[in-house]
Amino acid sequence: MPKIKMTVPLVEMDGDEMTRVLWKRIKEILILPYVELKTEYYDLGLVHRDETEDRVTEESALAAKKYGVAVKCATITPNVQRMSEYNLHKMWKSPNGTIRRILDGTVFRAPILCNGILSYVPGWKRPIVLARHAYGDVYSAVDGVAEAGEKVYLVTEDASGKEVRRALVHDFKDGAGVVQGMHNCDGSIRSFAHSCFRFALENKIPMIFATKDTISKVYDGRFKAVFAEVYEEYKEAFEAQGLYYLYTLIDDAVARIVRSEGGILWACKNYDGDVMSDMVATAYGSLGMMSSVLVSPDGKYEYEAAHGTVTRHYYKYLKGEETSTNSVATIFAWTGALKKRGELDGNAALAAFAEKLEKATVSTIEEGEMTGDLIPLFHREGITPKKLNSEEFLQAIAKRL
Ligand code: NAP
Ligand code: MG
Repeated sequence: MPKIKMTVPLVEMDGDEMTRVLWKRIKEILILPYVELKTEYYDLGLVHRDETEDRVTEESALAAKKYGVAVKCATITPNVQRMSEYNLHKMWKSPNGTIRRILDGTVFRAPILCNGILSYVPGWKRPIVLARHAYGDVYSAVDGVAEAGEKVYLVTEDASGKEVRRALVHDFKDGAGVVQGMHNCDGSIRSFAHSCFRFALENKIPMIFATKDTISKVYDGRFKAVFAEVYEEYKEAFEAQGLYYLYTLIDDAVARIVRSEGGILWACKNYDGDVMSDMVATAYGSLGMMSSVLVSPDGKYEYEAAHGTVTRHYYKYLKGEETSTNSVATIFAWTGALKKRGELDGNAALAAFAEKLEKATVSTIEEGEMTGDLIPLFHREGITPKKLNSEEFLQAIAKRL
């Protein structure tokens, strides 16, 4: 068979550790034999980020903006221990944070479902897709300690520095305590809303958004109002597709999600998204089965796995020991990107190939061949699951493909 051609390149962002090892093998075993892969390659591995003083991360994000579709391998976010391990010049920022900032995007996380892998919530038959507003609130808050007898105010100045408002947060006359000031911006909330409505429409799923505006009347009230305003632009399209958009309180949203069958987009404020995405991911089983896509409000896409670089497995790999690392979410990052490229370029063969690779991956697991993380989760009558190592798992998919 002739290889499938590509017209516009994908932006390829390579990464670190075990996922970097899998990255190369996924391409070699599952993609390159069938696709004349055209990528603009950026090495976001920590060594190269350090060599380029992290310019490579910014360049890769700008390329994603230019071409519209990127696929990213998991990367190390440096901490103190990584500073010495990699002999770094600086504690570089999280690449995901940098890319998100440049694309002004929203992260959507969705589980990859297989027959036989049961969710901890038996009612969840379809994916619950979670969107987290990754800007502001408590993540960029200023906080501090107040001593006994101090008063803390929220002071607003105009551009010339003149005080225009002053509100007492608390009078600490009865003893010391803590305070926190946080913010968000209408523009960021609006971008978030656009990304969410667009994602729901493209994936033909209803959407729910929740805050606590009964308590946080002005702050969360603004989120509610911006979403209501932006929804007006999408309302007709939602109704034409028979989809709904529901705004409710976060408590009610949690109850509805637990009772639902899935097949819904749950848009969350920053903190809710942080907490709930881990809850949803855990309930669906393994981190190795959670995919993730960053969508910008103007329709640029960056696909990746939700998990990290799987460091513990990498250290085993370096010692020459066998690993059984789940490559499903990374494979789906590739298929997501190839499908989107196919869709945007009218390249039906490329999109169809990506679909087939997804099907081959899922059926490998459904037929009982999987990595170690999935073994305890797999229950299917008549099939005893077989644990494969990282390489064998990719070969088992290739056989079906
Ligand atoms: P992690 O790489 O997600 O791994 C945590 C644990 O989850 C693993 O040790 C493993 O459990 C299990 N796991 C995750 N993915 C798996 C897979 N594909 N197959 C099988 N098991 C899997 O998180 P971490 O160890 O906290 O972080 C490692 C590095 O990744 C850090 O440097 C962090 O900065 C980075 N990170 C990057 C991203 C990103 O680029 N998007 C996201 C998160 C973290 P067992 O050990 O029990 O087998
Ligand atoms: Mg979290």
